[in-house]
Amino acid sequence: MSKTLNVKPMELVSGWIGWIFFRDLVGGLSLTLSYMFSKTVTEQYPDKEKWVPYPRYRGHHFLNTNEEGDVNCVACELCAKICPCDCIEVVPYEDEKGNRRPKVFDINLGRCLFCGLCEDACPADAIKLGQLYEFSSETSQALNVGRDALMGMPRKAEEGGKVYDAEFSLLEGVSVNISADNKSHDWWKKIRRG
Ligand code: SF4
Ligand code: SF4
Repeated sequence: MSKTLNVKPMELVSGWIGWIFFRDLVGGLSLTLSYMFSKTVTEQYPDKEKWVPYPRYRGHHFLNTNEEGDVNCVACELCAKICPCDCIEVVPYEDEKGNRRPKVFDINLGRCLFCGLCEDACPADAIKLGQLYEFSSETSQALNVGRDALMGMPRKAEEGGKVYDAEFSLLEGVSVNISADNKSHDWWKKIRRG
């Protein structure tokens, strides 16, 4: 069975004219040129700027502590039970005040899918997912994070979703001080959409 090509003559002519005058090439070059003279949107990360995600972002976990510095966790193991990746290990013990606390609280971030179910299930407001996303590692062992490290992880900032002025040092990485004095800008609004 023969097939008929349904191309309109005007489309064919305009296609040939476009090809002869390098219309696509000229279009691409003019787009490049227009970007050369438009406002820079490159984020100066990690030297001068850093994107801080919205507070609802689910990044590296942390364990909340009370006023006395004790971990809020009561080692009920609900988070470990609900975790779909089986990446939380909790071993309970009784401290000197008679409180049930975790002797071991390990999270394997290499297996975690950052679903937030552990945070939702926690009855003690203990485990949270913060805004930290810089925790890549060369070894899988380093992604196994223990109780004390989780207690020391940065807490949630009250705001986010912007690029903030930051400082970078080889030892401490990128640090951001989210305060009214720190200049921030909405990076997404700078991006050209047409
Ligand atoms: S975020 Fe999800 S996958 Fe990760 S530890 Fe919590 S429950 Fe498990
Ligand atoms: S973090 Fe919350 S859910 Fe997990 S063991 Fe501790 S108290 Fe229970």
